[in-house]
Amino acid sequence: MEISIKGLNKNYYSEGKTIAALDQVDLTIPANRIFTLLGPSGCGKTTLLRCIVGLEMPDSGEIAIGDEVVFSAEKGIYVPPDRRGLGMVFQTYATWPHMNVFDNVAYPLQTRNEPKEEIVRKVARTLHFVQLDGFEKRPATKLSGGQQQRVALARALIAEPKVILFDEPLSNLDAKLREETRKELRAFLTELKITAVYVTHDRIEALSLSDTVAVMKSGRIIEMGTPWEIYFDSDRRFVADFIGRANFIEGKVSTSEDSFTMIDSAIGAIACEKKTEASPGKAVTVCIRPEFIRVLEGDPKVGRNIFRGRVESLVFVGDAYEGEIRVGETLLIFRIEPTTAVREGEEIALHFDPRHCSILLN
Ligand code: ATP
Repeated sequence: MEISIKGLNKNYYSEGKTIAALDQVDLTIPANRIFTLLGPSGCGKTTLLRCIVGLEMPDSGEIAIGDEVVFSAEKGIYVPPDRRGLGMVFQTYATWPHMNVFDNVAYPLQTRNEPKEEIVRKVARTLHFVQLDGFEKRPATKLSGGQQQRVALARALIAEPKVILFDEPLSNLDAKLREETRKELRAFLTELKITAVYVTHDRIEALSLSDTVAVMKSGRIIEMGTPWEIYFDSDRRFVADFIGRANFIEGKVSTSEDSFTMIDSAIGAIACEKKTEASPGKAVTVCIRPEFIRVLEGDPKVGRNIFRGRVESLVFVGDAYEGEIRVGETLLIFRIEPTTAVREGEEIALHFDPRHCSILLN
């Protein structure tokens, strides 16, 4: 079910100051896909989620879930949370410790007074779906963090919500378990074909889990796209910087040829394959991710996007070497195959792939 948000504003007042937590948010969350709100702490992600759920009252604007307007400041509509047909999974595991797995999952149906046999059938089906068959009698406290999160998911799913919302649900899990649970969650949600709204400040989580990512900054949605588009195609420095490690090289547009835009910079001319609206002379920033800087073997001739530099630092991180190269006065970060023969202090030639040199508008 699609969620449509128009002109949403929410201010908080604290210590005599007004905090614009949501600033004129317009957003369409696509039906039956995994949609993630990504942004730094304090940008308004949780506030937006709470407005969708109905736990927070916006100052103005409108929210519709499917065809139903659940909030409209202008029309005086406010549908309470329990009548919006939503499921929610929170940061804390939110399983009830005094109950076993069965009772935790059955709870939403018990409060609706559904028939006992129906509850037993639905709990068994939902536990099977989240791969917790046979765990019915286990006390919730005697489960691993990942299993507790699956119980929380089962409890959110059992009531067959139209939309499911997640507020940083994996942040209490350790790194390895987080990765596994993320994969599982993506598989569950994709199979269910449900509209999922996910909040996180973790870029890897957003990129690997989502169909669509919306990046938030200071109460506004500043960019929206597929994980690929957000990672590779953003022309905004804030987004490019937030979504991953990157080199930012200041320069000016010199020429725009058929297939390349040339940028004059402190390290020389950089060819960028992507087109830009910027006309010659315009100040821009070239963004190159460390994985697209390639070390060239031997002593290559001068050529397009070939530069010489000195390896200032090199760290072995298992699946790669990460380090810094000084090209002229500019220090660049790079990431190369662990088998590449490079040493600290060495002079090397490097190449930037023009397909991955993005032009950011200043
Ligand atoms: P985090 O990732 O840290 O949870 P967030 O992006 O979810 O952050 P919000 O919790 O939505 O951010 O907060 C947005 C802004 O509103 C922040 O500046 C926050 O300090 C402020 N804020 C949130 N709740 C309140 C409140 N009840 N009273 C006053 N200010 C609030």
